[in-house]
Amino acid sequence: MDRSFFMTIDGKPESGIGQFDVINPATELPVAQCPKADEAIVDRAVAAAKSAFPAWAATPIETRAALVDLLADALQSRIGEFASLLTAEQGKPVDQAQYEIMGSVFTLKAFAQMRPEQKLLKDDGHNRVIEHRTPLGVVAAITPWNFPVILVINKLGPALVTGNTMVIKPAPTTPLTTLLLGELCAEILPPGVVNVICDQNDLGAYLTQHPDVAKIAFTGSTATGKRVMASAAADVKRVTLELGGNDAAIVLDDVDVRQVAAKVYGGAMANAGQICVAIKRAYVPAPMYDDFCDELARLAKAAVVDDGSKQGATIGPIQNKAQYDKVKALLADARERGTVIAGGEALDRPGYFIPPTIVRDLPDDAPLVREEQFGPVLPVLKYTDIDDVIARANDSDYGLGGTVWGRDVERATAVAMKIDTGTVWVNQYLAIDANIPFRGSKQSGFGGELGQAGLDEYTQAHIINAVPLEAMA
Ligand code: NAD
Repeated sequence: MDRSFFMTIDGKPESGIGQFDVINPATELPVAQCPKADEAIVDRAVAAAKSAFPAWAATPIETRAALVDLLADALQSRIGEFASLLTAEQGKPVDQAQYEIMGSVFTLKAFAQMRPEQKLLKDDGHNRVIEHRTPLGVVAAITPWNFPVILVINKLGPALVTGNTMVIKPAPTTPLTTLLLGELCAEILPPGVVNVICDQNDLGAYLTQHPDVAKIAFTGSTATGKRVMASAAADVKRVTLELGGNDAAIVLDDVDVRQVAAKVYGGAMANAGQICVAIKRAYVPAPMYDDFCDELARLAKAAVVDDGSKQGATIGPIQNKAQYDKVKALLADARERGTVIAGGEALDRPGYFIPPTIVRDLPDDAPLVREEQFGPVLPVLKYTDIDDVIARANDSDYGLGGTVWGRDVERATAVAMKIDTGTVWVNQYLAIDANIPFRGSKQSGFGGELGQAGLDEYTQAHIINAVPLEAMA
Protein backbone atom coordinates (compact mmCIF):
# COMPACT_ATOMS: atom_id res chain seq x y z
CA MET A 1 0.00 0.00 0.00
CA ASP A 2 1.36 3.35 -1.01
CA ARG A 3 0.55 5.10 2.24
CA SER A 4 2.34 5.84 5.50
CA PHE A 5 0.68 5.47 8.88
CA PHE A 6 1.51 7.38 12.03
CA MET A 7 0.61 7.09 15.67
CA THR A 8 -1.15 10.12 17.17
CA ILE A 9 0.22 11.87 20.22
CA ASP A 10 -1.04 15.25 21.42
CA GLY A 11 -2.81 15.76 18.09
CA LYS A 12 0.37 15.27 16.06
CA PRO A 13 1.64 12.38 13.90
CA GLU A 14 4.31 10.26 15.61
CA SER A 15 6.55 7.94 13.60
CA GLY A 16 7.94 6.00 16.58
CA ILE A 17 11.20 4.13 17.01
CA GLY A 18 10.84 1.86 13.99
CA GLN A 19 8.31 -0.01 11.91
CA PHE A 20 6.95 -3.51 11.42
CA ASP A 21 4.94 -5.18 8.67
CA VAL A 22 1.19 -5.61 8.95
CA ILE A 23 0.34 -8.81 7.09
CA ASN A 24 -2.73 -9.36 4.91
CA PRO A 25 -4.00 -12.76 6.17
CA ALA A 26 -5.47 -13.56 2.75
CA THR A 27 -2.12 -13.25 0.95
CA GLU A 28 0.54 -13.35 3.70
CA LEU A 29 1.99 -10.22 2.06
CA PRO A 30 2.53 -6.89 3.85
CA VAL A 31 -0.36 -4.41 3.68
CA ALA A 32 1.67 -1.53 5.07
CA GLN A 33 4.21 -0.68 7.73
CA CYS A 34 3.10 0.12 11.26
CA PRO A 35 5.07 2.56 13.47
CA LYS A 36 6.19 1.18 16.79
CA ALA A 37 6.32 2.88 20.20
CA ASP A 38 8.64 2.32 23.14
CA GLU A 39 8.15 3.08 26.83
CA ALA A 40 9.22 6.72 26.40
CA ILE A 41 6.56 7.17 23.71
CA VAL A 42 3.93 5.54 25.95
CA ASP A 43 4.97 8.05 28.64
CA ARG A 44 4.48 10.92 26.18
CA ALA A 45 1.07 9.61 25.10
CA VAL A 46 -0.11 9.28 28.71
CA ALA A 47 1.33 12.74 29.55
CA ALA A 48 -0.54 14.27 26.58
CA ALA A 49 -3.80 12.63 27.70
CA LYS A 50 -3.20 13.74 31.29
CA SER A 51 -2.56 17.37 30.35
CA ALA A 52 -5.60 17.45 28.01
CA PHE A 53 -7.86 16.02 30.73
CA PRO A 54 -8.71 19.13 32.86
CA ALA A 55 -9.86 21.24 29.90
CA TRP A 56 -11.72 18.35 28.26
CA ALA A 57 -13.46 17.42 31.53
CA ALA A 58 -14.45 21.08 31.95
CA THR A 59 -15.82 21.32 28.40
CA PRO A 60 -19.64 21.31 28.50
CA ILE A 61 -20.97 17.80 27.92
CA GLU A 62 -23.11 19.06 25.03
CA THR A 63 -19.94 20.22 23.26
CA ARG A 64 -18.15 16.92 23.89
CA ALA A 65 -21.16 14.95 22.66
CA ALA A 66 -21.40 17.14 19.54
CA LEU A 67 -17.73 16.41 18.76
CA VAL A 68 -18.35 12.66 19.17
CA ASP A 69 -21.28 13.01 16.78
CA LEU A 70 -19.02 14.88 14.34
CA LEU A 71 -16.50 12.04 14.57
CA ALA A 72 -19.29 9.62 13.64
CA ASP A 73 -20.09 11.71 10.55
CA ALA A 74 -16.41 11.85 9.56
CA LEU A 75 -16.12 8.07 9.92
CA GLN A 76 -19.24 7.55 7.84
CA SER A 77 -17.95 9.88 5.11
CA ARG A 78 -14.83 7.68 4.79
CA ILE A 79 -16.52 4.30 5.09
CA GLY A 80 -15.05 2.96 1.82
CA GLU A 81 -11.48 3.76 2.87
CA PHE A 82 -11.92 2.31 6.36
CA ALA A 83 -13.70 -0.83 5.10
CA SER A 84 -11.11 -1.72 2.46
CA LEU A 85 -8.27 -1.15 4.95
CA LEU A 86 -10.11 -3.29 7.50
CA THR A 87 -10.49 -6.12 4.97
CA ALA A 88 -6.80 -5.86 4.04
CA GLU A 89 -5.53 -6.09 7.63
CA GLN A 90 -8.23 -8.23 9.24
CA GLY A 91 -9.42 -10.47 6.39
CA LYS A 92 -13.21 -10.18 6.67
CA PRO A 93 -15.23 -9.80 3.45
CA VAL A 94 -15.65 -6.16 2.52
CA ASP A 95 -19.44 -6.12 3.04
CA GLN A 96 -18.84 -7.33 6.62
CA ALA A 97 -16.11 -4.69 7.02
CA GLN A 98 -18.60 -2.01 5.92
CA TYR A 99 -21.06 -3.40 8.45
CA GLU A 100 -18.45 -3.02 11.20
CA ILE A 101 -17.78 0.60 10.23
CA MET A 102 -21.49 1.44 10.03
CA GLY A 103 -22.00 -0.25 13.41
CA SER A 104 -19.22 1.99 14.74
CA VAL A 105 -20.96 5.09 13.35
CA PHE A 106 -24.27 4.07 14.99
CA THR A 107 -22.52 3.34 18.27
CA LEU A 108 -20.80 6.74 18.36
CA LYS A 109 -24.11 8.43 17.55
CA ALA A 110 -25.87 6.47 20.30
CA PHE A 111 -23.26 7.51 22.88
CA ALA A 112 -23.49 11.12 21.68
CA GLN A 113 -27.12 10.99 22.88
CA MET A 114 -26.38 9.43 26.30
CA ARG A 115 -25.73 11.40 29.45
CA PRO A 116 -24.50 10.31 32.89
CA GLU A 117 -27.47 10.36 35.22
CA GLN A 118 -27.62 12.74 38.14
CA LYS A 119 -29.81 11.25 40.86
CA LEU A 120 -31.53 12.95 43.76
CA LEU A 121 -31.19 10.24 46.40
CA LYS A 122 -32.91 12.16 49.18
CA ASP A 123 -34.64 15.51 49.56
CA ASP A 124 -36.73 15.84 52.71
CA GLY A 125 -36.64 19.63 52.84
CA HIS A 126 -33.69 19.46 55.21
CA ASN A 127 -31.22 16.90 53.91
CA ARG A 128 -30.47 16.88 50.20
CA VAL A 129 -28.35 14.03 48.79
CA ILE A 130 -27.23 14.08 45.16
CA GLU A 131 -25.33 11.43 43.26
CA HIS A 132 -23.61 12.80 40.18
CA ARG A 133 -20.91 11.35 38.01
CA THR A 134 -17.43 12.67 37.30
CA PRO A 135 -14.88 11.50 34.70
CA LEU A 136 -11.98 9.32 35.81
CA GLY A 137 -9.00 10.78 33.90
CA VAL A 138 -6.81 8.94 31.41
CA VAL A 139 -8.35 5.76 29.99
CA ALA A 140 -6.09 3.13 28.43
CA ALA A 141 -8.10 1.29 25.76
CA ILE A 142 -6.61 -2.02 24.58
CA THR A 143 -8.23 -3.99 21.76
CA PRO A 144 -7.93 -7.35 19.95
CA TRP A 145 -7.81 -8.16 16.23
CA ASN A 146 -11.25 -9.55 15.42
CA PHE A 147 -13.23 -6.26 15.36
CA PRO A 148 -10.46 -3.66 15.45
CA VAL A 149 -12.71 -0.66 14.79
CA ILE A 150 -15.93 -1.21 16.70
CA LEU A 151 -14.15 -2.49 19.81
CA VAL A 152 -12.25 0.82 20.00
CA ILE A 153 -15.44 2.78 19.35
CA ASN A 154 -17.31 0.96 22.16
CA LYS A 155 -14.72 2.51 24.51
CA LEU A 156 -14.10 5.84 22.81
CA GLY A 157 -17.77 6.91 22.69
CA PRO A 158 -18.51 6.62 26.42
CA ALA A 159 -15.01 7.71 27.52
CA LEU A 160 -15.16 10.99 25.59
CA VAL A 161 -18.80 11.88 26.26
CA THR A 162 -18.19 11.54 30.01
CA GLY A 163 -15.07 13.74 29.85
CA ASN A 164 -12.12 11.32 29.95
CA THR A 165 -9.09 11.39 27.68
CA MET A 166 -7.55 8.31 26.10
CA VAL A 167 -4.50 6.33 25.07
CA ILE A 168 -5.55 3.61 22.62
CA LYS A 169 -3.41 0.56 21.85
CA PRO A 170 -4.65 -1.76 19.06
CA ALA A 171 -3.55 -5.36 18.50
CA PRO A 172 -0.30 -5.49 16.53
CA THR A 173 -1.79 -7.57 13.72
CA THR A 174 -4.62 -5.06 13.03
CA PRO A 175 -3.35 -1.57 13.94
CA LEU A 176 -3.95 0.32 10.69
CA THR A 177 -7.65 1.18 10.99
CA THR A 178 -7.00 2.40 14.54
CA LEU A 179 -4.15 4.60 13.28
CA LEU A 180 -6.53 6.04 10.66
CA LEU A 181 -9.10 6.63 13.39
CA GLY A 182 -6.42 8.45 15.42
CA GLU A 183 -5.83 10.77 12.43
CA LEU A 184 -9.58 11.50 12.27
CA CYS A 185 -9.64 12.24 16.00
CA ALA A 186 -6.73 14.66 15.59
CA GLU A 187 -8.72 16.57 12.95
CA ILE A 188 -11.81 16.89 15.15
CA LEU A 189 -10.85 16.80 18.83
CA PRO A 190 -8.54 19.02 20.92
CA PRO A 191 -4.92 17.78 21.00
CA GLY A 192 -4.20 15.06 23.55
CA VAL A 193 -7.82 13.96 24.02
CA VAL A 194 -7.24 10.81 21.94
CA ASN A 195 -3.75 9.37 21.54
CA VAL A 196 -2.91 6.17 19.65
CA ILE A 197 0.21 4.08 20.16
CA CYS A 198 1.26 0.74 18.61
CA ASP A 199 3.39 -2.10 19.90
CA GLN A 200 4.32 -5.67 19.03
CA ASN A 201 2.55 -7.17 22.05
CA ASP A 202 5.25 -5.74 24.30
CA LEU A 203 3.87 -2.51 25.79
CA GLY A 204 0.48 -3.57 27.17
CA ALA A 205 1.86 -4.30 30.62
CA TYR A 206 3.76 -1.00 30.72
CA LEU A 207 0.67 0.96 29.71
CA THR A 208 -1.64 -0.79 32.17
CA GLN A 209 0.83 -0.27 35.05
CA HIS A 210 1.31 3.41 34.25
CA PRO A 211 0.53 5.44 37.41
CA ASP A 212 -1.20 8.21 35.41
CA VAL A 213 -3.72 5.80 33.85
CA ALA A 214 -6.98 5.90 35.81
CA LYS A 215 -8.90 3.18 34.00
CA ILE A 216 -8.15 0.26 31.72
CA ALA A 217 -10.79 -0.72 29.17
CA PHE A 218 -9.62 -4.07 27.80
CA THR A 219 -11.02 -6.47 25.23
CA GLY A 220 -9.07 -9.62 24.51
CA SER A 221 -8.36 -13.10 25.79
CA THR A 222 -9.08 -14.27 29.32
CA ALA A 223 -5.38 -15.08 29.84
CA THR A 224 -4.31 -11.50 29.08
CA GLY A 225 -7.33 -10.12 30.95
CA LYS A 226 -6.05 -11.75 34.14
CA ARG A 227 -2.69 -10.00 33.66
CA VAL A 228 -4.49 -6.68 33.11
CA MET A 229 -6.48 -7.14 36.31
CA ALA A 230 -3.28 -7.86 38.22
CA SER A 231 -1.66 -4.72 36.75
CA ALA A 232 -4.65 -2.63 37.79
CA ALA A 233 -4.39 -3.80 41.40
CA ALA A 234 -1.28 -1.78 42.26
CA ASP A 235 -3.11 1.59 42.02
CA VAL A 236 -6.68 0.24 42.34
CA LYS A 237 -7.32 1.37 38.77
CA ARG A 238 -10.81 1.03 37.39
CA VAL A 239 -10.96 -1.84 34.92
CA THR A 240 -13.40 -3.28 32.42
CA LEU A 241 -12.58 -6.65 30.94
CA GLU A 242 -14.39 -8.07 27.89
CA LEU A 243 -12.83 -11.49 27.53
CA GLY A 244 -13.25 -14.84 25.82
CA GLY A 245 -16.31 -17.02 25.54
CA ASN A 246 -17.49 -20.51 24.66
CA ASP A 247 -21.10 -19.81 23.80
CA ALA A 248 -23.52 -22.70 23.58
CA ALA A 249 -26.49 -22.81 21.21
CA ILE A 250 -29.32 -24.94 22.58
CA VAL A 251 -31.77 -26.05 19.92
CA LEU A 252 -35.19 -27.10 21.27
CA ASP A 253 -37.23 -29.94 19.82
CA ASP A 254 -40.03 -27.83 18.32
CA VAL A 255 -37.99 -26.04 15.64
CA ASP A 256 -37.82 -26.39 11.89
CA VAL A 257 -34.40 -27.95 11.27
CA ARG A 258 -33.62 -26.11 8.04
CA GLN A 259 -34.60 -22.69 9.38
CA VAL A 260 -32.68 -22.96 12.65
CA ALA A 261 -29.64 -24.75 11.20
CA ALA A 262 -29.16 -21.73 8.91
CA LYS A 263 -29.25 -19.40 11.93
CA VAL A 264 -26.87 -21.52 13.98
CA TYR A 265 -24.53 -21.77 11.00
CA GLY A 266 -24.54 -17.97 10.66
CA GLY A 267 -23.88 -17.49 14.37
CA ALA A 268 -20.93 -19.88 14.27
CA MET A 269 -19.27 -18.80 11.02
CA ALA A 270 -19.67 -14.99 10.82
CA ASN A 271 -16.25 -13.30 10.80
CA ALA A 272 -14.80 -16.82 10.26
CA GLY A 273 -15.89 -17.71 13.80
CA GLN A 274 -13.65 -15.00 15.28
CA ILE A 275 -16.31 -13.38 17.44
CA CYS A 276 -16.27 -13.44 21.22
CA VAL A 277 -20.01 -14.29 21.13
CA ALA A 278 -19.91 -16.65 18.13
CA ILE A 279 -21.77 -19.92 18.61
CA LYS A 280 -18.89 -22.19 19.65
CA ARG A 281 -20.81 -25.41 20.41
CA ALA A 282 -24.31 -26.46 19.34
CA TYR A 283 -26.55 -28.85 21.30
CA VAL A 284 -29.28 -30.56 19.26
CA PRO A 285 -32.05 -32.98 20.39
CA ALA A 286 -31.31 -36.63 19.51
CA PRO A 287 -34.32 -37.14 17.18
CA MET A 288 -33.24 -34.29 14.86
CA TYR A 289 -29.46 -34.62 15.35
CA ASP A 290 -28.62 -36.33 12.04
CA ASP A 291 -30.78 -34.00 9.96
CA PHE A 292 -29.43 -30.93 11.75
CA CYS A 293 -25.80 -32.01 11.22
CA ASP A 294 -26.47 -32.73 7.54
CA GLU A 295 -28.04 -29.31 7.03
CA LEU A 296 -25.09 -27.56 8.71
CA ALA A 297 -22.70 -29.55 6.49
CA ARG A 298 -24.67 -28.57 3.38
CA LEU A 299 -24.40 -24.87 4.32
CA ALA A 300 -20.69 -25.20 5.10
CA LYS A 301 -19.96 -26.80 1.73
CA ALA A 302 -21.80 -23.95 -0.06
CA ALA A 303 -19.63 -21.21 1.53
CA VAL A 304 -17.33 -19.17 -0.70
CA VAL A 305 -14.00 -19.09 1.17
CA ASP A 306 -11.77 -16.44 -0.36
CA ASP A 307 -9.85 -13.20 0.01
CA GLY A 308 -12.35 -10.80 1.60
CA SER A 309 -11.64 -8.20 -1.09
CA LYS A 310 -12.97 -10.59 -3.78
CA GLN A 311 -16.58 -10.16 -4.88
CA GLY A 312 -18.77 -12.98 -3.53
CA ALA A 313 -16.47 -14.17 -0.71
CA THR A 314 -18.64 -15.18 2.26
CA ILE A 315 -15.86 -16.21 4.61
CA GLY A 316 -12.33 -14.85 4.80
CA PRO A 317 -9.13 -16.14 6.38
CA ILE A 318 -8.19 -16.52 10.03
CA GLN A 319 -6.69 -13.19 11.03
CA ASN A 320 -3.18 -14.27 11.95
CA LYS A 321 -0.77 -17.17 11.80
CA ALA A 322 -0.79 -17.92 15.55
CA GLN A 323 -4.57 -18.26 15.61
CA TYR A 324 -4.52 -20.26 12.36
CA ASP A 325 -2.08 -22.74 13.95
CA LYS A 326 -4.27 -22.96 17.06
CA VAL A 327 -7.40 -23.74 15.03
CA LYS A 328 -5.49 -26.32 12.96
CA ALA A 329 -4.37 -28.07 16.17
CA LEU A 330 -7.95 -28.19 17.47
CA LEU A 331 -9.04 -29.58 14.10
CA ALA A 332 -6.39 -32.30 14.16
CA ASP A 333 -7.64 -33.45 17.56
CA ALA A 334 -11.30 -33.25 16.47
CA ARG A 335 -10.57 -35.42 13.42
CA GLU A 336 -9.27 -38.12 15.78
CA ARG A 337 -12.12 -37.98 18.27
CA GLY A 338 -15.16 -37.05 16.20
CA THR A 339 -16.54 -37.17 12.65
CA VAL A 340 -15.82 -34.27 10.31
CA ILE A 341 -18.74 -33.90 7.88
CA ALA A 342 -17.72 -30.66 6.12
CA GLY A 343 -14.39 -28.85 5.77
CA GLY A 344 -11.73 -30.20 8.08
CA GLU A 345 -8.49 -29.22 6.33
CA ALA A 346 -6.78 -25.87 5.88
CA LEU A 347 -6.85 -24.78 2.24
CA ASP A 348 -3.72 -25.45 0.22
CA ARG A 349 -3.11 -21.86 -0.90
CA PRO A 350 -1.39 -18.77 0.46
CA GLY A 351 -3.29 -17.16 3.33
CA TYR A 352 -4.65 -18.52 6.58
CA PHE A 353 -7.78 -20.14 5.17
CA ILE A 354 -9.79 -22.74 7.03
CA PRO A 355 -13.11 -23.63 5.40
CA PRO A 356 -16.25 -23.81 7.53
CA THR A 357 -16.01 -27.12 9.33
CA ILE A 358 -18.72 -29.18 11.04
CA VAL A 359 -17.69 -31.87 13.53
CA ARG A 360 -20.20 -34.32 15.02
CA ASP A 361 -20.02 -37.14 17.59
CA LEU A 362 -17.35 -35.48 19.77
CA PRO A 363 -17.20 -36.24 23.51
CA ASP A 364 -17.90 -33.31 25.86
CA ASP A 365 -14.29 -33.27 27.04
CA ALA A 366 -12.80 -32.76 23.54
CA PRO A 367 -10.69 -29.56 23.37
CA LEU A 368 -12.91 -28.27 20.54
CA VAL A 369 -15.87 -28.41 22.96
CA ARG A 370 -14.08 -27.18 26.11
CA GLU A 371 -11.87 -24.44 24.65
CA GLU A 372 -12.57 -21.27 22.72
CA GLN A 373 -11.75 -22.22 19.11
CA PHE A 374 -12.15 -18.66 17.68
CA GLY A 375 -12.34 -20.05 14.14
CA PRO A 376 -14.89 -21.49 11.67
CA VAL A 377 -15.11 -24.95 13.25
CA LEU A 378 -18.35 -25.96 14.97
CA PRO A 379 -18.81 -29.02 17.19
CA VAL A 380 -22.41 -30.34 17.17
CA LEU A 381 -23.44 -32.34 20.23
CA LYS A 382 -26.48 -34.52 20.91
CA TYR A 383 -28.79 -34.30 23.94
CA THR A 384 -31.86 -36.07 25.25
CA ASP A 385 -32.71 -34.24 28.49
CA ILE A 386 -33.18 -30.48 28.78
CA ASP A 387 -31.86 -30.14 32.35
CA ASP A 388 -28.82 -32.16 31.40
CA VAL A 389 -28.07 -29.98 28.39
CA ILE A 390 -28.43 -26.81 30.47
CA ALA A 391 -25.88 -28.26 32.90
CA ARG A 392 -23.55 -29.12 30.00
CA ALA A 393 -23.89 -25.61 28.55
CA ASN A 394 -23.07 -24.12 31.98
CA ASP A 395 -20.11 -26.43 32.56
CA SER A 396 -17.54 -23.85 31.46
CA ASP A 397 -15.25 -21.27 33.04
CA TYR A 398 -16.57 -18.86 30.44
CA GLY A 399 -19.91 -17.07 30.65
CA LEU A 400 -20.14 -14.58 27.82
CA GLY A 401 -23.21 -15.25 25.64
CA GLY A 402 -25.36 -18.03 24.28
CA THR A 403 -28.47 -18.72 22.24
CA VAL A 404 -31.65 -20.76 22.65
CA TRP A 405 -33.76 -21.68 19.63
CA GLY A 406 -37.43 -22.66 20.00
CA ARG A 407 -40.82 -22.10 18.38
CA ASP A 408 -42.35 -21.64 21.84
CA VAL A 409 -40.59 -18.41 22.83
CA GLU A 410 -41.71 -18.62 26.47
CA ARG A 411 -40.26 -22.08 26.84
CA ALA A 412 -37.05 -21.00 25.10
CA THR A 413 -36.86 -17.94 27.38
CA ALA A 414 -37.28 -20.17 30.45
CA VAL A 415 -34.27 -22.20 29.25
CA ALA A 416 -32.32 -18.98 28.54
CA MET A 417 -32.92 -17.83 32.14
CA LYS A 418 -30.95 -20.86 33.36
CA ILE A 419 -27.86 -20.22 31.22
CA ASP A 420 -25.12 -18.63 33.32
CA THR A 421 -23.74 -16.00 30.95
CA GLY A 422 -23.94 -12.24 30.54
CA THR A 423 -26.31 -12.37 27.55
CA VAL A 424 -28.55 -15.07 26.08
CA TRP A 425 -30.30 -14.43 22.78
CA VAL A 426 -33.52 -16.26 21.97
CA ASN A 427 -34.07 -17.04 18.28
CA GLN A 428 -31.41 -14.54 17.22
CA TYR A 429 -27.68 -14.06 17.60
CA LEU A 430 -25.25 -11.16 17.84
CA ALA A 431 -28.07 -8.75 18.59
CA ILE A 432 -25.60 -6.28 20.11
CA ASP A 433 -27.00 -2.78 20.44
CA ALA A 434 -25.22 0.34 21.70
CA ASN A 435 -28.16 0.99 24.02
CA ILE A 436 -28.14 -2.47 25.66
CA PRO A 437 -25.44 -3.30 28.24
CA PHE A 438 -23.08 -6.13 27.33
CA ARG A 439 -21.01 -7.96 29.93
CA GLY A 440 -19.58 -11.36 30.65
CA SER A 441 -20.06 -13.55 33.70
CA LYS A 442 -17.45 -15.89 35.26
CA GLN A 443 -14.09 -15.65 33.43
CA SER A 444 -15.61 -13.87 30.43
CA GLY A 445 -15.43 -10.45 31.94
CA PHE A 446 -15.57 -7.88 34.65
CA GLY A 447 -17.69 -4.75 34.32
CA GLY A 448 -19.31 -4.10 31.00
CA GLU A 449 -19.65 -2.04 27.87
CA LEU A 450 -22.52 -0.34 26.04
CA GLY A 451 -25.78 1.08 27.29
CA GLN A 452 -26.17 3.47 30.22
CA ALA A 453 -24.28 0.98 32.42
CA GLY A 454 -21.41 1.04 29.90
CA LEU A 455 -21.37 4.84 30.00
CA ASP A 456 -21.30 4.84 33.81
CA GLU A 457 -18.22 2.58 33.77
CA TYR A 458 -16.23 5.64 32.66
CA THR A 459 -17.33 7.71 35.66
CA GLN A 460 -16.96 7.94 39.40
CA ALA A 461 -20.22 8.14 41.36
CA HIS A 462 -19.88 11.22 43.56
CA ILE A 463 -22.23 11.77 46.49
CA ILE A 464 -22.99 15.26 47.75
CA ASN A 465 -24.84 15.11 51.08
CA ALA A 466 -25.97 18.54 52.31
CA VAL A 467 -27.94 19.92 55.27
CA PRO A 468 -28.54 23.59 56.24
CA LEU A 469 -25.85 25.24 58.36
CA GLU A 470 -28.36 25.59 61.23
CA ALA A 471 -28.47 21.79 61.49
CA MET A 472 -24.98 21.83 63.04
CA ALA A 473 -25.13 20.99 66.74
P1 NAD B 1 -5.04 -10.96 23.39
O1 NAD B 1 -5.47 -11.02 24.81
O2 NAD B 1 -3.89 -11.76 22.96
O3 NAD B 1 -4.68 -9.45 22.98
C1 NAD B 1 -5.58 -8.39 23.18
C2 NAD B 1 -4.79 -7.10 23.34
O4 NAD B 1 -4.04 -7.15 24.55
C3 NAD B 1 -3.80 -6.82 22.23
O5 NAD B 1 -3.86 -5.44 21.91
C4 NAD B 1 -2.47 -7.17 22.88
O6 NAD B 1 -1.37 -6.50 22.30
C5 NAD B 1 -2.72 -6.71 24.29
N1 NAD B 1 -1.82 -7.28 25.30
C6 NAD B 1 -0.99 -8.35 25.20
N2 NAD B 1 -0.36 -8.55 26.38
C7 NAD B 1 -0.80 -7.61 27.24
C8 NAD B 1 -0.56 -7.31 28.62
N3 NAD B 1 0.28 -8.04 29.35
N4 NAD B 1 -1.21 -6.28 29.16
C9 NAD B 1 -2.09 -5.55 28.45
N5 NAD B 1 -2.36 -5.78 27.15
C10 NAD B 1 -1.73 -6.80 26.55
O7 NAD B 1 -6.36 -11.28 22.56
P2 NAD B 1 -6.50 -11.48 20.99
O8 NAD B 1 -5.91 -12.81 20.66
O9 NAD B 1 -6.00 -10.25 20.32
O10 NAD B 1 -8.10 -11.51 20.83
C11 NAD B 1 -8.87 -12.66 20.85
C12 NAD B 1 -9.59 -12.78 22.18
O11 NAD B 1 -10.38 -11.63 22.44
C13 NAD B 1 -10.57 -13.94 22.23
O12 NAD B 1 -10.42 -14.66 23.43
C14 NAD B 1 -11.93 -13.28 22.18
O13 NAD B 1 -12.98 -14.04 22.73
C15 NAD B 1 -11.67 -12.03 22.91
N6 NAD B 1 -12.69 -11.02 22.57
C16 NAD B 1 -13.61 -10.69 23.52
C17 NAD B 1 -14.61 -9.77 23.23
C18 NAD B 1 -15.64 -9.39 24.27
O14 NAD B 1 -16.32 -8.38 24.09
N7 NAD B 1 -15.81 -10.15 25.34
C19 NAD B 1 -14.66 -9.19 21.97
C20 NAD B 1 -13.71 -9.56 21.02
C21 NAD B 1 -12.70 -10.47 21.35
